[in-house]
Amino acid sequence: MSEYYLLLRSVLRAKPHLRACLSRCRHCRIFFLTHPRNAGRRNLRCPFGCRKAHRKQQSTQRSVAYYRDPQGKKKKCALNQRRVSKGAADRPRPVRSVTSTPKNDSAKGSQPMVEHVRMVVSLIEARSVSMKEIREMLQRVLRQHSMCRRRKIDHAVAWLNENPP
Ligand SMILES: [Zn+2]
Repeated sequence: MSEYYLLLRSVLRAKPHLRACLSRCRHCRIFFLTHPRNAGRRNLRCPFGCRKAHRKQQSTQRSVAYYRDPQGKKKKCALNQRRVSKGAADRPRPVRSVTSTPKNDSAKGSQPMVEHVRMVVSLIEARSVSMKEIREMLQRVLRQHSMCRRRKIDHAVAWLNENPP
């Protein structure tokens, strides 16, 4: 966490014009960089989970409201009737399939963090960075990270060999 803020601070020091994009999550209060089109908005949620959780909640609320209004109720009645007439052996249809959530929701939802990294790197480099580039960059960084960790363990083992407890 403190590492994240150190990084954010050094980015803002190097690119002061990005200060306008600095935003704070209204839910968990974490600071993050947002797209310039959202700069200055105070009602944003962070891309580290709060945005997704809120969307999910809203979608549930939408479907609840849908079934509360009389027209929605009629539809649900018909749906239940159809379910009954099809027989109890039929699997119950999940409520979500009735609402108009887009099909690619889960595909997009699985990588909001990568998309956030892409957006921030694009802002920092002042060019449009592709998802492919970001994935390659992340793989490189993660590989280095695990290599460093392995080296640290090797050092510890070597040290223990020389200085047995
Ligand atoms: Zn948050």
